Amino acid sequence: MKGSRKYGLVGRHLSHSYSPAIHAMIGGYEYRLCPLEPGELADFIRATDLDGFNVTIPYKKEVIPFCQELSPRAAAIGSVNTMLRLPDGGWRGDNTDYDGFLHLLGADAAAFCGKKALILGDGGAAATVRAVLGDLNISHETLRISRHVIPDIHDRHYDADLIVNATPVGMYPENGKSPVDPGDFPACRLVLDLIYNPAKTALMLMAERLGIPARGGLGMLCAQAVRAAELFLGESLPEGLVDRITEKIRRDMLNVLLVGMPGCGKTTIGRRLAGLTGRPLLDTDELIQEKAGMSIPDIFEKHGETYFRELETAVLRKVTKESGKIIATGGGVVTVPENFDLIRQNSICVFLDREKEKLDISGRPLSRFVGIDGLYRQRIPLYRAWADFTFRVYDPDTTAGNIKKELGL
Ligand code: NAP
Repeated sequence: MKGSRKYGLVGRHLSHSYSPAIHAMIGGYEYRLCPLEPGELADFIRATDLDGFNVTIPYKKEVIPFCQELSPRAAAIGSVNTMLRLPDGGWRGDNTDYDGFLHLLGADAAAFCGKKALILGDGGAAATVRAVLGDLNISHETLRISRHVIPDIHDRHYDADLIVNATPVGMYPENGKSPVDPGDFPACRLVLDLIYNPAKTALMLMAERLGIPARGGLGMLCAQAVRAAELFLGESLPEGLVDRITEKIRRDMLNVLLVGMPGCGKTTIGRRLAGLTGRPLLDTDELIQEKAGMSIPDIFEKHGETYFRELETAVLRKVTKESGKIIATGGGVVTVPENFDLIRQNSICVFLDREKEKLDISGRPLSRFVGIDGLYRQRIPLYRAWADFTFRVYDPDTTAGNIKKELGL
């Protein structure tokens, strides 16, 4: 019976794993997280009642000695991410990260045949990427980026057509770091980053600024999970399932970040949206006041706007690393260029557009002292440029309902 089968994920730090949500969408079986400390793997494999399990960092090599059988692919790559119980109680190890990376490369595979890929990092995922690229006849070199060695990059690799990041550099919670500058690779036409949290790593954001398309690792994660489920269940799953799951997980994991003029209703609408969606609300103005230990008008009066903006960016740097939240921001967040990438990395940016005459400017230092007309002229083009979606503000319930519906939350 499919419903009574039990699967899971073995790894060390699993609290942020997306796998339970992905497998819940495939459906029909139990899927549990099994965090293990080093040294606990042998006892776990001996005692577990699971019918199969996925394996993640740092155990993809360590499980190999426990496999009575290995798929040719897992044997060639030297890495196992899927364990299947054999009829006699033993284990078969397989590698579905291969299918995952093939999916991530997708239709671009043909365009890079005969071209040069540069793989950043030399761990388990890099070995999988090498196997896929080799099978597709894409020549590749590995750049041994490491915590211990600073590599000599540019002379040998400046001609790479494709860059694949197979290091964890830039992964949550170390957002904002990039293993290389894509600007150093003038031939580069595509960047693939295996990291899926944040949705857009610093490497991807830098690439996009240069006009180079970039994709993160969420599609790979979902594709490897669907292929693992096919092996668990011994049946093919519908075509298109990977894309449907990827889109749903992407939507669930992205924050919804509200921008707009002071007094347009960001906090009130944010609260209603949080209520409608069950997502927690983070209000940057509230967090700034907590951090400073004083009200926003007092911060402006005692320390000035520059100090306030620095506090705001520090708070934003923290909250925009989060996933699946509603974030209400202050009206001037768009005046600091650094905030743009912070927002883009993991949020859908929503501009709440309210008529100037209806803005509530009580207790808003800049609106009162600089004047609402000047602020409006300066900021409206910025909100429009930064936003992924614009919503006209009616009453808070209608506006929150419109956002929920349009964004499919
Ligand atoms: P791994 O076996 O530990 O290899 C990581 C590689 O990156 C090694 O070469 C390591 O070198 C280097 N590295 C690690 N930390 C670094 C740092 N702070 N600075 C510079 N280099 C560093 O890990 P993996 O299994 O290959 O995974 C690599 C990345 O791919 C992870 O972010 C993982 O989440 C992602 N991944 C994603 C998927 C997916 O489905 N999207 C699947 C597999 C992996 P040193 O050890 O010498 O530092």
